[in-house]
Amino acid sequence: MKENPNRGFATRAIHAGQEPDPSTGAVAVPIFATSTYVQEEIGKNRGYEYARVSNPTRTRLEENLAALEEGASAHAFASGMAAITAMLTMMKSGDHIVCGSNVYGGVPRLFNQVLVNYGLQFTYVDTSDIGAVERAIRPNTKLVHIETPTNPLMTVSDIAAVAKVAHGHGAELSVDNTFMSPYFQKPIRLGADIVMHSTTKFLNGHSDGLGGVLVCTKPHHKETFAFVQKCTGGILSPFECWLVLRGVKTLAVRMEQHDRSGRRVAEFLESHKKVKKVFYPGLRDHPQHELAKRQMTGFGAMITFETGSFENAQKMLRKVRVCSLGESLGGVETLISHPATMTHAALGAEGRAAIGLTDGMVRISVGIEDVEDIIADLDQALSAI
Ligand SMILES: *Cc1c(COP(=O)(O)O)cnc(C)c1O
Repeated sequence: MKENPNRGFATRAIHAGQEPDPSTGAVAVPIFATSTYVQEEIGKNRGYEYARVSNPTRTRLEENLAALEEGASAHAFASGMAAITAMLTMMKSGDHIVCGSNVYGGVPRLFNQVLVNYGLQFTYVDTSDIGAVERAIRPNTKLVHIETPTNPLMTVSDIAAVAKVAHGHGAELSVDNTFMSPYFQKPIRLGADIVMHSTTKFLNGHSDGLGGVLVCTKPHHKETFAFVQKCTGGILSPFECWLVLRGVKTLAVRMEQHDRSGRRVAEFLESHKKVKKVFYPGLRDHPQHELAKRQMTGFGAMITFETGSFENAQKMLRKVRVCSLGESLGGVETLISHPATMTHAALGAEGRAAIGLTDGMVRISVGIEDVEDIIADLDQALSAI
């Protein structure tokens, strides 16, 4: 990276990979809406040949995200799921993957309903239990994939400890850092080999585009994922790359506000009579609160709470006005969802019971509206229970 790694996070967010355009001086990275590039003569080009392989807007975004996650390279894909799919092309038939038991619902769906047909083996464990990770490892384990905090139970795993177990057995560790963003959590510093994001969430931050990225640490990753982008073609479009670049410029200030409001909303919910339990790593009674304080520099905006039953969740979700009922998270607007019927429906009732995900749980992604309005809205909605 050209960018000086000693510069602060907010400075890198605004400047890394985003030098003024050399041909015009444009301060904002242009959207290079082109499918191909003129070549001066056979074999002579300016580093760009065809837009599936590379595009300057995408290159700028990839440089920026590599700088923020402190990785060696980054590779942008059409969605978070496209990024995970690309990551799994590193595996060969017969390889084994250890995956967190409480990750984004689309991940086990991809593994169990698509990739299992290619001879890959998967074991799901609670990765907050290091002994369980150790026991799940087999001689053919090549990758450990974790999410921390998890979706939607907000369980925190010790990234450094999981990295040590994985590396001790010759496997690599990938961390889905979507919930925290590189602003609050830096998995590569803790030993992760690959950091994955759904840029759809906090990195874009405005709920106006899908995207995914793999940030990597090793030369073989860079070679593999650049090749996979070219071969499989599931790359992020120049316009959506530009949206993420634009979003990332305000990541630091947005995350600060998400975190401040997240803490306020968690405290409000914890003190509310109609709420049975609150899952938020910033609360002192969270089982991994101490680990969260050590490993993260903020607690973020994601909160799950127990209303007691499906009917209670239904009653309150019908009444929200400032909060919008919908899937997804990480936008400037507060989004509220019902994991059992939305993001985690594909897990099935048994799968949800196995990880402790109940029908009464409601998940909230606290936005950056006035926090008093968010709290008043939740208060009036909870009064319907
Ligand atoms: C949304 C999400 C994904 C999937 O990303 P898409 O961009 O929707 O494909 C993966 N992991 C986490 C934690 C997510 O929140």
